Amino acid sequence: MTEARVRVFDERGRELSPCSLTKAQRLVAGGRARWREDQPPAIELMRAVELPVRPATSEEGPKYAGQRVLLHICCGPCATYTVGRLRELGFQVTGFWYNPNIHPWQEHERRRESLAGFAEQVELPVLWQPGYEMPTFLRLVAGRERFRRRCAICYALRLQAAADQARAGGFDAFTTTLLISPYQEQELIRRIGEHLAEREGVRFYFEDFRRGWAERGRLTRLYNLYRQQYCGCIYSEWERYQGEACETYAPARLEAADLHAYFEEALEMLEHL
Ligand code: SF4
Repeated sequence: MTEARVRVFDERGRELSPCSLTKAQRLVAGGRARWREDQPPAIELMRAVELPVRPATSEEGPKYAGQRVLLHICCGPCATYTVGRLRELGFQVTGFWYNPNIHPWQEHERRRESLAGFAEQVELPVLWQPGYEMPTFLRLVAGRERFRRRCAICYALRLQAAADQARAGGFDAFTTTLLISPYQEQELIRRIGEHLAEREGVRFYFEDFRRGWAERGRLTRLYNLYRQQYCGCIYSEWERYQGEACETYAPARLEAADLHAYFEEALEMLEHL
């Protein structure tokens, strides 16, 4: 028997995606929501939820028709929605795999193989950066392991490789699936991408792909892709399972001054490559 669906509102009264009755009961029992109506059942979350704005696709579609974009891909699940969205805009999409931040090696391979399987299903050409530059990643973040501080270096390292490939391959633009994740610092990614674009002479395509996060979940199940349990590096694995107990952990929300300092430092680290 199908479980009843419950309507969900945030504290500002905006309607969100419905959830199962079991989940609604759990949220209420945990003090994160209260019952709003019995029939039909509806709950109200104790917090406001920011909904990403969906760009007007009908007008944007033709705008990029025929343009070639190189999409840096962090994993199969994040590629699902993003590839579809870029194709919807008219881009000819080529994937690019370079993720020396994924540890250990077997996890790196598992994610790479998962992406290869997805790429085959959707006929996505992918450029695979050979090798595994895990030592480079660790060397660059050594002494800078704090969450978000190391992430800035991690973004810069991967986006620099993508920008290089895009320039060498004559692409019109490059972008990254990192922009879909609510767990990544999007402003930092955007600033690094735009800086590299200026330096390399290839446009960085920025879009808040986060509006496709729920769709990403659905597509990941549809394509039966491997779902990783942590971001990628050994620090994130530690934090995932030990949380705030880990000394590398810091709150996800960055102060503007920290963001700027991490941005500057990440660019400086690229000079040491
Ligand atoms: S947490 Fe994720 S983004 Fe940050 S350094 Fe580790 S792998 Fe990179």
